[in-house]
Amino acid sequence: MTRAYDCIVVGAGPAGSTAATQLAQDGVRVLVLEQDTLPRYKACAGAVSGRATGLLTLDFSSVVEDVIHKVKVRWANADTAPIEYVSKTPIAYLVMRTSFDQLLVQEAITAGAIIHDGEKVQAIDLQPEHVAVQTTHSTYKAATLIGADGAVGIVARQSGLYLAKSSGIALEIEASVPPDQLAKWKNTVLVSYGIPRHGYGWLFPKSQHLSLGMGTFSPRRREFVSDFSAFTDSLGIPWEWQDLKAHPIPLGGRDRRFCLPRLLLVGDAAGLADPLSGEGIAHALHSGLVAADSVLASLDSGDFSMHSYQTAIEQEINSNLRVAKQLSNAFYTLPKVFFHLFLTSQEILAWYFQLVQGDRDYQDVWELVRKLLKPQGLLKWREHGEYPTQ
Ligand SMILES: Cc1cc2nc3c(=O)[nH]c(=O)nc-3n(C[C@H](O)[C@H](O)[C@H](O)COP(=O)(O)OP(=O)(O)OC[C@H]3O[C@@H](n4cnc5c(N)ncnc54)[C@H](O)[C@@H]3O)c2cc1C
Repeated sequence: MTRAYDCIVVGAGPAGSTAATQLAQDGVRVLVLEQDTLPRYKACAGAVSGRATGLLTLDFSSVVEDVIHKVKVRWANADTAPIEYVSKTPIAYLVMRTSFDQLLVQEAITAGAIIHDGEKVQAIDLQPEHVAVQTTHSTYKAATLIGADGAVGIVARQSGLYLAKSSGIALEIEASVPPDQLAKWKNTVLVSYGIPRHGYGWLFPKSQHLSLGMGTFSPRRREFVSDFSAFTDSLGIPWEWQDLKAHPIPLGGRDRRFCLPRLLLVGDAAGLADPLSGEGIAHALHSGLVAADSVLASLDSGDFSMHSYQTAIEQEINSNLRVAKQLSNAFYTLPKVFFHLFLTSQEILAWYFQLVQGDRDYQDVWELVRKLLKPQGLLKWREHGEYPTQ
């Protein structure tokens, strides 16, 4: 066994790097273990929301590919004109995760964290007095362990904290298109509801290409890939099978444990993606910061129970995601009803994007939805299928 650390972080995504930076800045001896060689690719639409940017201390303008001020929302693959929402202030910044995540890794290194990339964690051993981590290269010992290893991470699975069947799934391609098509989407994203059921398709512009994807948050659908093909066909954008990437999205808002004595889960490993939109970077950053605070407190006090982490994540993140889950259930059960609501009420779209910008929470949006739908009694309507037109 090599030297001991105060904290080992498994995974160098946004959650792990954020926790490592914070800890190293406070003088904690922190080791980050990343299985991939850095910089690494991560399937992601790359929208860094206002909510996420509010949590970042570093300047990431050098890796911003586009700044979003306009959202087009449309129904299925229809030709009808989409609804448009325009904001004077940026709704989101679009990045390629390879460079964005690497910036966060560099920040952690500058702060003093030690990063071992290309080193996969194979086993963890949680003991009353320490944690041991076995990798493809060596075995390390630490006082605390942060599992920042993503949607199907080994830390959650081996510690018994993994929540099976709690994930959505998303597909994505990065499509090269002619310059005029690229220019058409500058500063604008497209979100398309109705197909697939329980999900949506998206088009997010990057500086040299378009990212197109589709996520589904509920039961797996065999037609998912053909739905995606129909979506890209409707936009006239061809793609190759070998370029298609798929990745689970572990949805938040559930009853679950985020920690054990000496061990904390953050980001996707803790299942903190938004159950309505699939957004996960903001909660990865947020939980990384909260985890760093909890590790610092435990090292100071010698109390490694981590009770305060469970409470903080529940109050600061998961309680909001519980409301998002409620909204998501209503939304994806009755997508056409909600689309109709978007058509008739600019207020609801404005509130939703203010939420993405970090200026509202889900409770605000849920209250507004209830107010708008109550007269029609539609929240009680549970049948899958057609939207009652009368
Ligand atoms: C197609 C798609 C589109 C998305 N679009 C958006 C979006 O536009 N905006 C947004 O906010 N969110 C989006 N998300 C969600 C977002 O990508 C995640 O929520 C976010 O990456 C979570 O960050 P993380 O640090 O928790 O985990 P990750 O970014 O997944 O990082 C985990 C790291 O752990 C490493 N790792 C795993 N296992 C081991 C091991 N055994 N040993 C060592 N290292 C290990 C991995 O290699 C990886 O680098 C999208 C997700 C998908 C699938």
